[in-house]
Amino acid sequence: MNISPIPAFTDNYIWQLNDGEKAFVVDPGDAKPVIAFLDAEGLTLAGILITHHHWDHTGGIKDLLELWPGIAVYGPHNDAIAEVTHPLKEGEHIQVLGERFNIFEVPGHTLDHIAYYNEQETDHDILFCGDTLFSSGCGRLFEGTASQMYDSLSKLKALPAETLVYCTHEYTQANLAFAKAVEPNNAEITSRIASVEKLRAENTPSVPTTLGLELKVNPFLRWDAPEVIEQANTQSETPSNEPVEVFAAIRGWKDRF
Ligand code: ZN
Ligand code: FE
Repeated sequence: MNISPIPAFTDNYIWQLNDGEKAFVVDPGDAKPVIAFLDAEGLTLAGILITHHHWDHTGGIKDLLELWPGIAVYGPHNDAIAEVTHPLKEGEHIQVLGERFNIFEVPGHTLDHIAYYNEQETDHDILFCGDTLFSSGCGRLFEGTASQMYDSLSKLKALPAETLVYCTHEYTQANLAFAKAVEPNNAEITSRIASVEKLRAENTPSVPTTLGLELKVNPFLRWDAPEVIEQANTQSETPSNEPVEVFAAIRGWKDRF
């Protein structure tokens, strides 16, 4: 299975998976770059995976269905995404190019948000997590509560460290600037800043990242790190060591950063 990002808008990645003939795309906010990619590679669209209802993840579905009518559109239970043919729930699974993807419900950024997880026997597992987990960041809380997002991120945090995390935005550098403010003494963050700077200078995506790396550099997964707890408490009117409160304080701080 070949996976690569199709850049869209200013900082979106539409991930495509293909087997040399058939392709699936994740969160096609814009049809144009997807069609150009599939044409150039001689691929047929076989299905669409949607993580949540935002327009930058769904806006291209209609035009793609005009070219490839009748293909499966997987997505959350949400009437706002009228094109979804297979609404999915936690614990269900689907087949994508012969691979099994399990569904997680991960509310927080939006209430309908789901993620797709493929377990590999020998290689890296694969996670398409939309706008829930970013490299060194997490999605803004547009609809859900901090506690819902904390539960969702806890679910993802429990996956194997080698899991490849396919985020849908190139937000890594801005996220790292915030991560550095939260943990000025975290050497892993400093070295990640340097390596991402190099990647971006060559216009190479900084994602997929791995869960193992995120556990070391992502302030939104590090609610149990002493420096993160200490910093969260300087930002909160109600200091607490409770992981969910630490997460909420860090999320609030990032919104003002
Ligand atoms: Zn979104
Ligand atoms: Fe988005």
